[in-house]
Amino acid sequence: MTKCPNTSVQQLCDTLQLTDQEVKTLNIDASSPFPLKISEDFLAQIQAKQPNDPLLKQILPLQVEHQTAKGFSQDPVSDLAFNPTPSLIHKYHGRVLLIASPKCDIHCRYCFRRHFPYSEQSNIRHWQKALDYIQQDKSIHEVILSGGDPMSLAEKSLVSLIQKIEAIPHIQTLRIHSRTPIVSPSTAPINEFLGWAKQTRLNKVLVVHCNHANELSVPTAKLFMRYKTAGFHLLNQSVLLKGVNDQVDILETLSHALFKQGVLPYYLNQLDRVQGAAHFEVENTTAIQLHTQLREKLPGYLLPQLVQDLQKNTYKTPLM
Ligand code: SF4
Repeated sequence: MTKCPNTSVQQLCDTLQLTDQEVKTLNIDASSPFPLKISEDFLAQIQAKQPNDPLLKQILPLQVEHQTAKGFSQDPVSDLAFNPTPSLIHKYHGRVLLIASPKCDIHCRYCFRRHFPYSEQSNIRHWQKALDYIQQDKSIHEVILSGGDPMSLAEKSLVSLIQKIEAIPHIQTLRIHSRTPIVSPSTAPINEFLGWAKQTRLNKVLVVHCNHANELSVPTAKLFMRYKTAGFHLLNQSVLLKGVNDQVDILETLSHALFKQGVLPYYLNQLDRVQGAAHFEVENTTAIQLHTQLREKLPGYLLPQLVQDLQKNTYKTPLM
């Protein structure tokens, strides 16, 4: 299936059968420098005639994004303070994060890397230096592929990169953080990638990113089954987003829906305070109340940890 990265805002609104009045009320910004981008699969999960659809809210550029909000910055998790060589972030003990791709299948409005300097940081020409860094530091046991979205890479490039990581003897685990299996399951890597996965010596973890049960579908379930059969541990992280998933029944439904597809809820992230996303923020007290209510409804293994990535800490900070 082809993607539709150039879908204009007007085309999208027409496809979703929104009225002129509804479009006006949304206060859309069609000229955002972080433009609208949506995959066909994600579009198929958005309900027509629903201007407040929780999936639509995640991808629609709004004028409110231009408002400056106190405490919000362009690099809210200090990626660039832990950047020993381009494409590599070494913030956490024993683990490094490799920015494998500058691209994503969709543009999430709350993305904490929406201002990340991908043109300087994410390029195949930086990979060898990053791999040399990993080779030289024997305390590193896990490589995390991130982005952008590493699964938006051409499958050949992705497999070539992970084979190079696998060749470093002290690496034990490959973790992939990706939204592709959720938002574009029809284009997620399968053939060569799963061929590699079935025979690798590495532990394999796939952390997907799903915020609402409506993002899950029959194609995501089928894909997860294939990844699981190839030996991946499947986890999910969500971002707590005002107007999208900040209700206990929505979060409860999400945990059950993920588990039904073989994925365990891992993190519920408080929003990273990136410029342009302040309107999505849920206050900490509300987040903690929600999580407490969620704890009453779910078995422990379906309860994601409520955490925040704070600039001062080199670990995810639990909020409770
Ligand atoms: S898929 Fe991930 S990296 Fe890409 S825009 Fe969305 S949140 Fe950001």
